[in-house]
Amino acid sequence: MLFRAFCEPGKDKSYVFPPTYGMYEVSANINNIETVKISLNSDFQLPHINELVETIDSNGLLFICSPNNPTGNIYPLNAIKEIASVFSGLVIVDEAYIDFSSSESAISLLNELPNLVVLNTLSKAYGLAGLRLGMAFASKEVIAVLNKIKPPYNVNSISQIEGLKALKNTKKSLSQIDLLKSERTLLTKALSAIPSVIKVYPSEANFLLIEFDQSDKIFTTLKSKGIIVRDRTKEVKNCLRITVGTPEQNRILINAIKEIKK
Ligand SMILES: *Cc1c(COP(=O)(O)O)cnc(C)c1O
Repeated sequence: MLFRAFCEPGKDKSYVFPPTYGMYEVSANINNIETVKISLNSDFQLPHINELVETIDSNGLLFICSPNNPTGNIYPLNAIKEIASVFSGLVIVDEAYIDFSSSESAISLLNELPNLVVLNTLSKAYGLAGLRLGMAFASKEVIAVLNKIKPPYNVNSISQIEGLKALKNTKKSLSQIDLLKSERTLLTKALSAIPSVIKVYPSEANFLLIEFDQSDKIFTTLKSKGIIVRDRTKEVKNCLRITVGTPEQNRILINAIKEIKK
């Protein structure tokens, strides 16, 4: 809807910072918007604003995924603020994983940045991907435009009821998030001690990006044991993305990786 409302097809542009979520480009393509890809730097951080100003010179949408999928890191709010201050289009901060992070949401910047849109979803921390329910936080003006172009009853009543229930009763998801965070720490530690693991990237999301020696072999062996991980080797060399599971699942995963011989 943001593409339809705020971009002129064939003219405006979409800016993304790879390696990142692939759906931004898919949506841009559907709307006949060119995607400009600006690589993150070597620690997966956003390029300095001085390097960016020349590049982000069109109208359109600029996507910042924070915590970023698949790298797991968050971006400082200051960097987001600097970008939003120079970009003439809308800056979309995708916070699908923010509930797994201890950092503050970009929602706190909305009052000072009229061109900011913050997205969240019930698909991740709330575990309700089947509802197909997300949220956009933005200025009154931006939200008014979205309300004008949305189809009637675009969120069905069952999703509304279940979504409100989840948002009112956050106790269950909060305790699950706490467990996930402690498992994330344990998993990071255990994986780092395995010789085939070269690097576990620090993560503020519900997954870890891990560089392996022989990532192909790890991927196929895990798959043959019924453990499905995400192959991200095309985006980040030798890296797999592994979702933090239940304590039981994590134990099985660690043992499975330990057993894989060179
Ligand atoms: C999962 C995810 C979303 C949203 O998924 P929906 O199920 O469509 O709400 C958005 N951004 C990122 C980066 C994601 O990983």
